Amino acid sequence: MGEVIAVLSGKGGTGKTTLCAALAAGLAAQENRVLCIDLDMGLRNLDIALGMANEAVISFTDVLHGRYFLQDATPHPDMPNLFLLTAPLREEDLTDSEDFGRLIAKAKDFYDYCLIDAPAGISEGFQMASRYAGRVIVVATPDPASLRDATRVADLLSIQRKEDVHLVVNRIRPDFFSKTELTVDDMMDSTGLPLLGLIPEDPNVPLSAFRGKPLIFTGKKGAAEACRRITRRLCGSIVPLMKLK
Ligand code: ADP
Ligand code: MG
Repeated sequence: MGEVIAVLSGKGGTGKTTLCAALAAGLAAQENRVLCIDLDMGLRNLDIALGMANEAVISFTDVLHGRYFLQDATPHPDMPNLFLLTAPLREEDLTDSEDFGRLIAKAKDFYDYCLIDAPAGISEGFQMASRYAGRVIVVATPDPASLRDATRVADLLSIQRKEDVHLVVNRIRPDFFSKTELTVDDMMDSTGLPLLGLIPEDPNVPLSAFRGKPLIFTGKKGAAEACRRITRRLCGSIVPLMKLK
């Protein structure tokens, strides 16, 4: 039975799509069958972060509306065990979020992991992603507004009785901790979430998207290494936090 992991945030631009693509590639590189679903209707970009922008990709609404089967999800050109259902280019009416639940239930039979890249905000996409996920990763950047939004998301998830919820803080600059005198514990305390990982600010993130290569294959340091560590922690390994100088 596969695991369903939703990547969420309150605020936009925190790095959900970047992390979702990196985790998907990392899990696929460990021989797992992975399905990625981009829920960001009208603003999809998970295909770019995965290096699949040039593939003919089927949307999850194509499957919901019976135009394609789940098994038609597009395979990655270099990783045949990584598949994508993209979001439609325009917002589409989802008659029933329970149809999405049935799609996810089926995906658990075919894939080891199903990663859902949610849109920002706490409306329909958030509700769909969180409702059917067994695990949730909340991505924040280290600024007060983003951390406050992460706290709000954590509160909503706790109302939904989600128990397996973790925080990833992305785009940390080398002097962040010394300049703010904040600690990792402070960020966990303010959001009420346990930490899954820290990701540094890294120019390789946009560069790898431009090159059409998944981030984790672009280097041995920086954000790529941070995401590899997060992938290993997701699979149950105890991995130390990376030193962010
Ligand atoms: P979201 O899906 O939450 O809206 P994205 O993953 O699309 O966020 O990231 C938003 C922007 O920030 C993108 O341009 C991406 O390249 C950039 N970005 C994300 N993480 C990092 C990072 N660690 N270092 C540098 N740029 C980053
Ligand atoms: Mg996104």
